[in-house]
Amino acid sequence: MNTATALSTIRDEITTLTKQAGRESHAVRLIAVSKTRSTAEIENIIMQGQRDFGENRVQEAQQKWPGLIEKYPDVRLRLIGPLQTNKVKYLPGLFRAVDSVDRLSLAKALARQAERGDYHPECLVQVNTGEEEQKAGIAPRAVSAFLANCENLGLDVRGLMCIPPITEAASIHFALLKKIADDHGLPECSMGMSSDYPQAINLGATIVRIGTALFGACS
Ligand SMILES: *Cc1c(COP(=O)(O)O)cnc(C)c1O
Repeated sequence: MNTATALSTIRDEITTLTKQAGRESHAVRLIAVSKTRSTAEIENIIMQGQRDFGENRVQEAQQKWPGLIEKYPDVRLRLIGPLQTNKVKYLPGLFRAVDSVDRLSLAKALARQAERGDYHPECLVQVNTGEEEQKAGIAPRAVSAFLANCENLGLDVRGLMCIPPITEAASIHFALLKKIADDHGLPECSMGMSSDYPQAINLGATIVRIGTALFGACS
Protein backbone atom coordinates (compact mmCIF):
# COMPACT_ATOMS: atom_id res chain seq x y z
CA MET A 1 0.00 0.00 0.00
CA ASN A 2 1.40 3.43 -0.83
CA THR A 3 1.44 6.15 1.77
CA ALA A 4 -1.45 8.14 0.30
CA THR A 5 -3.69 5.06 0.35
CA ALA A 6 -2.52 4.16 3.86
CA LEU A 7 -3.32 7.69 5.04
CA SER A 8 -6.88 7.63 3.75
CA THR A 9 -7.43 4.09 5.07
CA ILE A 10 -6.22 5.09 8.54
CA ARG A 11 -8.30 8.28 8.48
CA ASP A 12 -11.43 6.29 7.59
CA GLU A 13 -10.66 3.77 10.30
CA ILE A 14 -10.20 6.49 12.90
CA THR A 15 -13.55 7.99 11.90
CA THR A 16 -15.29 4.61 12.14
CA LEU A 17 -13.70 3.72 15.49
CA THR A 18 -14.51 7.15 16.90
CA LYS A 19 -18.15 6.75 15.89
CA GLN A 20 -18.30 3.19 17.26
CA ALA A 21 -16.97 4.44 20.58
CA GLY A 22 -19.85 6.93 20.69
CA ARG A 23 -17.50 9.89 20.54
CA GLU A 24 -17.74 13.15 18.61
CA SER A 25 -16.52 12.90 15.04
CA HIS A 26 -13.43 15.12 15.45
CA ALA A 27 -12.46 13.83 18.89
CA VAL A 28 -9.32 12.05 17.67
CA ARG A 29 -6.34 13.64 15.93
CA LEU A 30 -3.89 11.64 13.85
CA ILE A 31 -0.21 12.44 14.41
CA ALA A 32 1.91 11.11 11.57
CA VAL A 33 5.14 9.92 13.18
CA SER A 34 7.78 10.79 10.63
CA LYS A 35 10.99 9.83 12.43
CA THR A 36 13.51 8.20 10.06
CA ARG A 37 11.37 9.24 7.06
CA SER A 38 12.74 11.49 4.33
CA THR A 39 11.47 15.00 3.61
CA ALA A 40 10.13 13.67 0.29
CA GLU A 41 8.06 11.02 2.09
CA ILE A 42 6.82 13.63 4.53
CA GLU A 43 5.96 16.18 1.85
CA ASN A 44 4.02 13.50 0.01
CA ILE A 45 1.55 13.17 2.87
CA ILE A 46 1.49 16.89 3.62
CA MET A 47 0.17 17.20 0.07
CA GLN A 48 -2.51 14.64 0.95
CA GLY A 49 -3.71 17.05 3.62
CA GLN A 50 -1.96 15.71 6.73
CA ARG A 51 -0.94 18.55 9.06
CA ASP A 52 0.03 17.03 12.43
CA PHE A 53 3.40 15.31 12.68
CA GLY A 54 5.58 13.83 15.40
CA GLU A 55 9.34 13.51 15.57
CA ASN A 56 11.26 11.97 18.44
CA ARG A 57 14.66 13.62 18.05
CA VAL A 58 15.40 17.34 17.97
CA GLN A 59 18.50 17.01 15.84
CA GLU A 60 16.74 14.98 13.17
CA ALA A 61 13.87 17.48 13.13
CA GLN A 62 16.34 20.37 12.73
CA GLN A 63 17.69 18.69 9.63
CA LYS A 64 14.35 17.82 8.03
CA TRP A 65 11.73 20.36 9.04
CA PRO A 66 12.75 24.04 8.66
CA GLY A 67 12.20 23.98 4.89
CA LEU A 68 8.91 22.10 5.20
CA ILE A 69 7.61 24.49 7.85
CA GLU A 70 8.53 27.46 5.70
CA LYS A 71 6.72 25.96 2.74
CA TYR A 72 3.71 24.71 4.74
CA PRO A 73 3.34 27.12 7.68
CA ASP A 74 0.16 25.45 8.95
CA VAL A 75 1.95 22.16 9.61
CA ARG A 76 2.17 21.38 13.33
CA LEU A 77 5.18 19.45 14.58
CA ARG A 78 5.13 17.75 17.99
CA LEU A 79 8.08 16.37 19.92
CA ILE A 80 7.23 12.86 21.08
CA GLY A 81 10.61 11.62 22.31
CA PRO A 82 12.96 12.22 25.23
CA LEU A 83 14.28 15.78 25.43
CA GLN A 84 17.56 16.88 26.99
CA THR A 85 17.27 20.23 28.75
CA ASN A 86 20.17 21.68 26.73
CA LYS A 87 18.16 21.09 23.52
CA VAL A 88 15.15 23.16 24.63
CA LYS A 89 16.68 26.24 23.03
CA TYR A 90 16.30 24.63 19.60
CA LEU A 91 12.54 24.08 19.89
CA PRO A 92 11.13 27.54 19.05
CA GLY A 93 10.04 27.83 15.44
CA LEU A 94 10.25 24.06 15.06
CA PHE A 95 7.96 22.33 17.58
CA ARG A 96 4.45 23.54 18.41
CA ALA A 97 4.05 20.94 21.15
CA VAL A 98 6.16 18.92 23.55
CA ASP A 99 4.41 15.64 24.34
CA SER A 100 7.20 14.18 26.45
CA VAL A 101 7.42 16.42 29.53
CA ASP A 102 8.69 13.72 31.86
CA ARG A 103 10.62 15.37 34.69
CA LEU A 104 10.89 18.57 36.72
CA SER A 105 14.23 19.67 35.26
CA LEU A 106 12.67 19.65 31.79
CA ALA A 107 9.56 21.53 32.97
CA LYS A 108 11.88 24.19 34.44
CA ALA A 109 13.95 24.41 31.26
CA LEU A 110 10.75 24.90 29.21
CA ALA A 111 9.64 27.63 31.63
CA ARG A 112 13.02 29.39 31.28
CA GLN A 113 12.75 29.20 27.49
CA ALA A 114 9.24 30.65 27.69
CA GLU A 115 10.61 33.67 29.58
CA ARG A 116 13.65 34.13 27.40
CA GLY A 117 12.20 33.45 23.99
CA ASP A 118 8.45 33.95 24.20
CA TYR A 119 7.99 30.24 23.43
CA HIS A 120 4.77 28.69 24.73
CA PRO A 121 4.32 25.21 23.28
CA GLU A 122 1.37 23.03 24.11
CA CYS A 123 2.66 20.42 26.57
CA LEU A 124 1.69 16.87 27.47
CA VAL A 125 3.01 15.13 30.57
CA GLN A 126 4.42 11.69 29.85
CA VAL A 127 3.17 9.16 32.38
CA ASN A 128 5.07 5.94 33.04
CA THR A 129 1.87 3.94 33.45
CA GLY A 130 3.76 0.64 33.72
CA GLU A 131 6.21 2.09 36.28
CA GLU A 132 9.04 0.64 34.23
CA GLU A 133 12.56 1.34 35.52
CA GLN A 134 14.01 2.02 32.08
CA LYS A 135 11.15 4.16 30.81
CA ALA A 136 10.81 7.92 31.11
CA GLY A 137 7.76 9.53 32.62
CA ILE A 138 6.03 10.47 35.81
CA ALA A 139 4.72 7.62 37.98
CA PRO A 140 0.91 7.64 38.20
CA ARG A 141 0.91 8.47 41.92
CA ALA A 142 3.22 11.46 41.31
CA VAL A 143 1.18 13.06 38.52
CA SER A 144 -0.87 15.42 40.75
CA ALA A 145 2.20 16.98 42.33
CA PHE A 146 3.97 17.22 38.99
CA LEU A 147 1.00 18.95 37.36
CA ALA A 148 0.94 21.45 40.21
CA ASN A 149 4.63 22.18 39.57
CA CYS A 150 3.96 22.65 35.85
CA GLU A 151 1.14 25.04 36.62
CA ASN A 152 3.36 27.08 38.95
CA LEU A 153 5.94 27.25 36.18
CA GLY A 154 3.29 28.54 33.77
CA LEU A 155 3.45 25.64 31.32
CA ASP A 156 0.49 25.11 29.00
CA VAL A 157 -0.27 21.50 29.94
CA ARG A 158 -3.16 20.14 27.87
CA GLY A 159 -3.01 16.48 28.75
CA LEU A 160 -1.07 13.27 29.15
CA MET A 161 0.87 10.82 27.02
CA CYS A 162 1.92 7.21 27.59
CA ILE A 163 3.81 4.39 25.94
CA PRO A 164 2.58 1.11 27.46
CA PRO A 165 5.00 -1.71 28.36
CA ILE A 166 5.43 -4.00 25.36
CA THR A 167 4.88 -7.05 27.57
CA GLU A 168 1.39 -6.13 28.77
CA ALA A 169 -2.04 -5.51 27.30
CA ALA A 170 -2.02 -1.88 26.21
CA SER A 171 -5.67 -1.39 27.10
CA ILE A 172 -5.01 -1.44 30.87
CA HIS A 173 -2.53 1.40 30.41
CA PHE A 174 -4.83 3.38 28.12
CA ALA A 175 -7.65 3.12 30.64
CA LEU A 176 -5.32 4.25 33.43
CA LEU A 177 -4.02 7.23 31.45
CA LYS A 178 -7.56 8.31 30.57
CA LYS A 179 -8.65 8.05 34.21
CA ILE A 180 -5.70 10.16 35.42
CA ALA A 181 -6.46 12.76 32.71
CA ASP A 182 -10.13 12.89 33.70
CA ASP A 183 -9.28 13.12 37.40
CA HIS A 184 -7.27 16.24 36.64
CA GLY A 185 -9.65 17.78 34.11
CA LEU A 186 -7.15 17.44 31.27
CA PRO A 187 -8.68 17.20 27.77
CA GLU A 188 -5.87 15.51 25.82
CA CYS A 189 -4.77 11.87 25.92
CA SER A 190 -2.01 10.88 23.49
CA MET A 191 -2.05 7.10 23.36
CA GLY A 192 -2.10 4.42 20.71
CA MET A 193 0.38 3.62 17.95
CA SER A 194 0.18 1.50 14.75
CA SER A 195 -0.51 -1.77 16.56
CA ASP A 196 -2.97 -0.62 19.18
CA TYR A 197 -4.67 2.62 18.17
CA PRO A 198 -8.13 1.01 17.85
CA GLN A 199 -8.15 0.15 21.58
CA ALA A 200 -6.78 3.59 22.41
CA ILE A 201 -9.60 5.32 20.52
CA ASN A 202 -12.12 3.11 22.25
CA LEU A 203 -10.65 4.08 25.61
CA GLY A 204 -10.61 7.83 25.02
CA ALA A 205 -7.47 8.76 23.08
CA THR A 206 -7.66 12.27 21.59
CA ILE A 207 -4.29 11.91 19.82
CA VAL A 208 -2.96 8.76 18.17
CA ARG A 209 0.67 8.54 17.01
CA ILE A 210 1.11 6.42 13.92
CA GLY A 211 4.31 5.71 12.01
CA THR A 212 4.65 2.21 10.60
CA ALA A 213 1.03 1.75 9.52
CA LEU A 214 1.31 4.96 7.54
CA PHE A 215 4.80 4.98 6.05
CA GLY A 216 5.48 1.23 6.04
CA ALA A 217 8.12 -0.62 8.03
CA CYS A 218 11.41 1.22 8.53
CA SER A 219 13.98 0.21 5.96
C1 LIG B 1 7.89 5.70 16.79
C2 LIG B 1 6.89 6.17 17.75
C3 LIG B 1 5.51 6.02 17.48
C4 LIG B 1 4.97 5.35 16.23
O1 LIG B 1 5.09 3.97 16.34
P1 LIG B 1 4.52 3.01 15.18
O2 LIG B 1 4.43 1.70 15.85
O3 LIG B 1 5.52 3.04 14.08
O4 LIG B 1 3.21 3.54 14.76
C5 LIG B 1 4.63 6.51 18.42
N1 LIG B 1 5.05 7.11 19.55
C6 LIG B 1 6.35 7.28 19.84
C7 LIG B 1 6.74 7.96 21.10
C8 LIG B 1 7.31 6.82 18.95
O5 LIG B 1 8.62 6.98 19.23
